[in-house]
Amino acid sequence: MSSRIPGFYKLSQEERLKIVKEFAKLSDEDIEAIKGKALSFEAANRMIENVIGTHEIPLGVATNFLINGRDYLIPMAIEEPSVVAAASNAARIARIKGGFHTSSSDPVMIGQIQITDLKTPYYAKMQIMEKKEEILRIANDQDPVLVKFGGGARDIEVRVFEKEKMIVVHLLVDVRDVMGANAVNTMAEAVAPFLEKITGGSAVLRIISNLAVYRIARSRAIFDAEALGGERVVNRILKAYTLAKVDPFRATTHNKGIMNGITAVVSATCNDTRAVEAGCHAYASRNGSYTVLTHYEKNEDGDLVGSIEIPTAVGVIGGATKHPIARVSLKILGVKTSKEFGEVLASVGLAQNLAALRALSDEGIQKGHMKLHARNIAAMAGAEGEMIDKVAEKMVEKGTIRVDVAKEILEELKK
Ligand code: NAD
Repeated sequence: MSSRIPGFYKLSQEERLKIVKEFAKLSDEDIEAIKGKALSFEAANRMIENVIGTHEIPLGVATNFLINGRDYLIPMAIEEPSVVAAASNAARIARIKGGFHTSSSDPVMIGQIQITDLKTPYYAKMQIMEKKEEILRIANDQDPVLVKFGGGARDIEVRVFEKEKMIVVHLLVDVRDVMGANAVNTMAEAVAPFLEKITGGSAVLRIISNLAVYRIARSRAIFDAEALGGERVVNRILKAYTLAKVDPFRATTHNKGIMNGITAVVSATCNDTRAVEAGCHAYASRNGSYTVLTHYEKNEDGDLVGSIEIPTAVGVIGGATKHPIARVSLKILGVKTSKEFGEVLASVGLAQNLAALRALSDEGIQKGHMKLHARNIAAMAGAEGEMIDKVAEKMVEKGTIRVDVAKEILEELKK
């Protein structure tokens, strides 16, 4: 069957499902599963194109988070086992010495306007800088609502690419409580003709940058040595961190662990996970080579002190945050501003990272994963209901978690 299906967009949900069912040989249960409950077809169909259903992943809540003296429950939408538990566990340890403490910059995003075909790019830069106030006015005229809420275009920067005979103008926009891509893109497009007029060049790209270096959230916490498992564990965590700091292969996995937490929250609130992921990883390489987003040190009491600094392009309104589950997630999270949201994300990232480092440096990651992993494998082997736990338990006892072993155990139990 070809995936070239003209007029698919004109079909009803049932008609689309019929085609997809046939195409991918889906069962009736598969179809029920993707139809979803919270998000109606009509709403989903307004969000993206060619909608055939909705996709459900588990929504969990991480507990124990104390951030700036306030308690938070953290909604996390994720398919990976152990993430929610690990975040809760690290937050519990952080709590002993006062929880997380945060700060952040203003929520400023960068809009890029590329001007090409310039004979004298350095000169063009000067011409643009002279017109800063006018450029900011044109940008702000596009979004009176944002300006009313205290945001708007604040400043410009011009970067010269001499060899390429081009410049990139950065429009710095305080986007207040939205993610900001639409807001910034509109402004970038609006100022482009004026920049062409000033310089005589031609504008090509006019789009937000996801390297949100001016929208930074920070968090720090003290992780009690005893609760971590003693001096030995603290020292081993520091050694593990040292490798991540100097080795991109390890740093990538280190940061992936951070994003386990951050992306799950971003996803639960229907913010743009790609924007945040791209921003964080690029930020991790801002000094030329890819490295860690968190840092760890030992303080005078022998406790482990951790810190994190990340760009956080997330909104509490706008974008897709009106999705029914996103709305509830934001309600559970209880954040009032995008700044606060960013600071919570930084804290979750730090907690998630500490939990992973602790498990890796101590007993290894598999032991903690074992039970959940065993349950997944039991279900894969065909176990249902109570049988899942029984089969999983037996596999953990045996110390072998494999589908073939699960099948054997299941057969025995059935007998
Ligand atoms: P949006 O367009 O839904 O809302 C932005 C507008 O909300 C503002 O322009 C402002 O007029 C208004 N607003 C109302 N109350 C506000 C407040 N308190 N603070 C600030 N503004 C307020 O959303 P957006 O955040 O501009 O765009 C986000 C969407 O853009 C996401 O869905 C994202 O996936 C998408 N997107 C991302 C990229 C990228 O990351 N490269 C590119 C294009 C689009």
